[in-house]
Amino acid sequence: MPEPRHDGDAALECPRCSTKAARIVARSPVPDVWTMHLCPVCFYSWRSTEPDYATKATALAPRFRIDPDRLEEGASVPGVPPLLGAG
Ligand SMILES: [Zn+2]
Repeated sequence: MPEPRHDGDAALECPRCSTKAARIVARSPVPDVWTMHLCPVCFYSWRSTEPDYATKATALAPRFRIDPDRLEEGASVPGVPPLLGAG
């Protein structure tokens, strides 16, 4: 099986936060079947073969959109407990 090709150069618009920082992180082993994308800002990921509502900013439901300026307000789920023996 051939190794997937990685492409760190092409910047794409993230469907969820609309930043232009998303990258292709993997390609299908069979050439030109699908590509996998990842946004390093909000960590949304999607495959090129998914429907428009998951891959296009204009088609993603507004309730699933994220304002990148408000990411710090999000809670860590699940919360990280204190280290054993700390304190
Ligand atoms: Zn994003």
